[in-house]
Amino acid sequence: MNSSENKIIILGAGLVGSLLALFLVKRGYNVHVFEKRTDLRLDKKEEGRSINLALSRRGLKALEKVGLMPKVISHCIPMPGRMVHTIDEKEDFQPYGKTGQQINSIARLELNCLLMDAAEQAGVFFHFEHFCGKVETEKNEAYFTHQGKTLSHQASFIFGADGAFSALRKAYMRAPRFNFSQQYISSGYKELSMPPTPKGEFALDPNALHIWPRQEFMLIALPNVDKSFTCTLFLPFEGKISFDSLQTDKEVNSFFEEHFSDAKQHMPNLLADFKNHPTSSLITVKCFPYVQNHSLLIGDAAHAIVPFYGQGMNAGFEDCFVLDRLIEENCGLSKKVLHAFQEERKVDADAISDLALYNFIEMRDKVTDPLFILQKKLEQRLHKEYPKQWIPLYTLVTFSDYRYSEALAIAKKQQAIMDEVLNIPGIETAWKSIDLKEIIAALD
Ligand SMILES: Cc1cc2nc3c(=O)[nH]c(=O)nc-3n(C[C@H](O)[C@H](O)[C@H](O)COP(=O)(O)OP(=O)(O)OC[C@H]3O[C@@H](n4cnc5c(N)ncnc54)[C@H](O)[C@@H]3O)c2cc1C
Repeated sequence: MNSSENKIIILGAGLVGSLLALFLVKRGYNVHVFEKRTDLRLDKKEEGRSINLALSRRGLKALEKVGLMPKVISHCIPMPGRMVHTIDEKEDFQPYGKTGQQINSIARLELNCLLMDAAEQAGVFFHFEHFCGKVETEKNEAYFTHQGKTLSHQASFIFGADGAFSALRKAYMRAPRFNFSQQYISSGYKELSMPPTPKGEFALDPNALHIWPRQEFMLIALPNVDKSFTCTLFLPFEGKISFDSLQTDKEVNSFFEEHFSDAKQHMPNLLADFKNHPTSSLITVKCFPYVQNHSLLIGDAAHAIVPFYGQGMNAGFEDCFVLDRLIEENCGLSKKVLHAFQEERKVDADAISDLALYNFIEMRDKVTDPLFILQKKLEQRLHKEYPKQWIPLYTLVTFSDYRYSEALAIAKKQQAIMDEVLNIPGIETAWKSIDLKEIIAALD
């Protein structure tokens, strides 16, 4: 493997690395993916936990371009809205968009395996248990530890799809004028399980993303095809109500009894899960440039974001889609393509990063606020009557082809108008008869 001509190295066989490999092999490149873990497909059964993700338009569009959309969709459960569970155990279904618009729950492991299978069948070479410890971008060379030995590989291009703690990005840190920031939020998360009922049915409505918003913290649940749900508890690390304050079984039990009793009755493994599953942190990474010599950061390696818009993977898949379009427009991969990619994507990555942080507040706090609910209803009316002029932010981000940066700019303008409308005295009752034309006119 010494010849580096036409050869591409991708660091990381995660979701983005595997999809990128498929895009590039279809363009005729000799693609080698190096992954520090063992092959996920071999110990698929031992994985145990089924962590799931919400896949939406941007991700699906990329999958469609490589011909994988129908296969992936067959492994998904559609979620056309969020089901909000109030503290007094009432359920309120809030549609995400119009009829037919839905996000899709899919197991991360299943999706990753599908992508690796498709890439391998198309001719990609996967090298597992290869930990990348160093990259010299000026030499187009990456160094790996494999079975106790250090190996090096050269290629004409190196892509860092190696996640939030990227080894390629570490190499960039040594270069002058490389900007980098990372920010942890004060909340962490823990995954918990909700198995099927004793009768083998879903414990909750499977066609919804369930949320128990409790202001400073929340629980969410996404359905799996085996009729279980994967629940995620987002909670501050420290403070009166926090992971720190939940040390004993008794404390965990009474916390769930007090705040999530309707969910708890379906969580027989709660105490074991709580003890055995890690408490993980949530990070935002921003950096620039994404390019150094003939290498490029992509996916979480370039822009890790918090998960509250369900867009991290979708944004990474959209990265692959955009890169492929640029390769096509420029008749092949080149430094020019890498630079065009970073110019286009940086502004969009920053936009979705900020939106994701904002959505944490919306999910845990605002979804039960009557004014927020009213705004959603008004926006649905506006979007129904003026589908091109008024597009709600969630729809822009999740179901449209607008760039994230455009979505953010449109949303800011719409929100300023909406704030004025919501300030109208008596809006709580008047909203049904309000003149929508006037609101639309304010957009000009
Ligand atoms: C709790 C949670 C929920 C989420 N929910 C959603 C959701 O609903 N929808 C959505 O779109 N996104 C979601 N995300 C975000 C999504 O998980 C990420 O954006 C996505 O996994 C990024 O993919 P990636 O391939 O860039 O990075 P990763 O998935 O992190 O993959 C990186 C790969 O590189 C490998 N690697 C790392 N370092 C090295 C090295 N030195 N050498 C070799 N290999 C290496 C890793 O083993 C891994 O396989 C969520 C994230 C979290 C934390």
